[in-house]
Amino acid sequence: QQELRTQALGRQLFFFAELSSTNDLLKDMVRQGREHGTVVIARRQTTGHGRMQRAWESPEGGLWLSLLLKPRLSLGDAAKLTLSTGVALAQTLQDLYGLAAGIKWPNDVVVQGRKIAGILGEVAGEWTTVQTLILGIGVNANFSGQTFSSKLPATTLQDILGYEVNLNHLAAQLLFNLEKEVQSLEQGDVQGLIQRWTSFAVGINQPVRIERAGTVYAGIFKGIREDGELILDLEGQEMTFSSGEVSLRAG
Ligand code: ADP
Repeated sequence: QQELRTQALGRQLFFFAELSSTNDLLKDMVRQGREHGTVVIARRQTTGHGRMQRAWESPEGGLWLSLLLKPRLSLGDAAKLTLSTGVALAQTLQDLYGLAAGIKWPNDVVVQGRKIAGILGEVAGEWTTVQTLILGIGVNANFSGQTFSSKLPATTLQDILGYEVNLNHLAAQLLFNLEKEVQSLEQGDVQGLIQRWTSFAVGINQPVRIERAGTVYAGIFKGIREDGELILDLEGQEMTFSSGEVSLRAG
């Protein structure tokens, strides 16, 4: 905590040796009136999850962190905070380790085409009354040799760098970068966010295949709209896709 350079994020910090899921615990804590910026970290998670309740493997050595935000944003803009988190994560891996990290739409962070971190944004309760967002962030850091049953091959910082990183340092830099992103969004700079996101995006202007409800759409990945939807160019005709409904492949 001495390493923190943030105003709010991580100022309230709860650390556990083991949790079922940092997001789930933080969701419970919302009911106790926890404040903006509260962070929960666990050394390992026993039932961490990704999107759509898919399992997220969280062995010891990773950074398993959840963050409570009460941003001054509409629900539509708050949903963009998962994009902000991707940017902050990729930026952090570049800042600290010089890695060319990328973002695979919607929000997997990859290095050398392998998934190194994941993000899970959840709204706690009714947005209209409490306006609380939980951001779960998992970084595969100091472990190696794991094979996850995953569409995308996975990797860890240790595998790539060949040494163990300082997790406190990593968390502090991540929260610092994320706080800047939250503030910039609160100031209304959606364009800046989209630009930064696009600069990290993997596969822009390249052919991709997207599967939605059993149909495969093949086109060129043009980027994202301000609301985060993916823009696909199908021979001059644009289609958009929301992250909840599709999966994206190169090709
Ligand atoms: P996606 O959106 O890419 O499917 P999610 O964010 O939903 O991914 O994460 C869950 C999936 O990620 C799991 O189904 C599994 O394939 C993979 N996975 C699980 N744990 C890890 C991990 N620690 N690192 C990388 N990938 C993982």
